[in-house]
Amino acid sequence: MSNLASRIEQIRSKPLADMKAYHVQPAKDVIKLDAMENPFTWPTEIQTLWLESLKSVSVNRYPDAGASGLKRLLRQQFDIAEDYPIVLGNGSDELILLLAQMVQQPDVSIMGVEPSFVMYRQIARSLNLNYIGINLKSDDFSIDREATLAAIKTHQPSVIFLAIPNNPTGNVFDEQTIEEIIQASNGLVVLDEAYTAFTDYDSKKWLRYDHVVIMRTVSKIGLAGLRLGYLFANPLITNELEKIRLPYNINCLTQHTASFILGHADILEQQSERLVEQRALLHQALTDLAAFEAFPSQANFILARVNHRLSAREIFEQLKQKGILIKCLDGGHPHLSNCLRFTVGSEAENQALIQGLSEIIG
Ligand SMILES: *Cc1c(COP(=O)(O)O)cnc(C)c1O
Repeated sequence: MSNLASRIEQIRSKPLADMKAYHVQPAKDVIKLDAMENPFTWPTEIQTLWLESLKSVSVNRYPDAGASGLKRLLRQQFDIAEDYPIVLGNGSDELILLLAQMVQQPDVSIMGVEPSFVMYRQIARSLNLNYIGINLKSDDFSIDREATLAAIKTHQPSVIFLAIPNNPTGNVFDEQTIEEIIQASNGLVVLDEAYTAFTDYDSKKWLRYDHVVIMRTVSKIGLAGLRLGYLFANPLITNELEKIRLPYNINCLTQHTASFILGHADILEQQSERLVEQRALLHQALTDLAAFEAFPSQANFILARVNHRLSAREIFEQLKQKGILIKCLDGGHPHLSNCLRFTVGSEAENQALIQGLSEIIG
């Protein structure tokens, strides 16, 4: 082993020994249906206004560290009560990191359900925290109430993450079970509403428990490139997070552009509505193909299990040959064996997907 390799082995934090970097599939010149992005652009006149407005941004200055203007607009647009301070992150990924750092101590646990968003585990492990993943039920991806409540009792997790709707399964968890989990927790319960734009479900009611945190992102509503997540919670929680947050984590172009487009929020809302319509059509089309069991979804993607002589992996590869990129989940978790996840795209993209799939399955 080289000197440097053994030096790194000596000094690096233990969990890094068996961690891998998050893999992002190359996606040049493809129909990109793998990452829950909104496929739509802005109307030309809005693009022009935006480009004009960029002249006022002072990139030579540090951004507003408190992002007060942007927070005011988020509060207005998403109807967040003044009682709950907002914390912004460079994507909600960064907010997950802040939450994990807030509780970081030896022997602390973070809990989630499985399968769910992989960053909860990845971030917990990178900080040398225990991650406890409790399996969902394999038939409908609902929470295994008994197993989850028992694990909370045993492990006393400092943070529990629940994505509602859940990624990659697309479902919303049962009300009563959510409440029992909140009641059983001695730590924080973070309700991750990354897909709130595509469902009528609203977790705000759970703020009546003061240890609940609501976390969201603008990534899935058309602003993934900006990297902006937000959470709101009791000030006793947000005060701790503000101690860890790096002062200039939201750059001036993100603050400016998010503020600009929130002034035209109807555009984003209409795009999300179109995706919800497309979701129903895509779900029906997948079901009609008969090679798939498409699970119900309240998000902008559909999980489907393959029932065909070709495997999920083979269908994924053949679609890629045709220039269509989706996500193959086979191998990620036993409940996802032979499963694919399709992001809902534009009308044309979804038609191309269905066309491609019908050619592949014959
Ligand atoms: C996509 C996603 C996020 C990450 O959002 P960013 O703001 O882009 O970091 C968080 N949680 C869930 C459940 C997601 O699917």
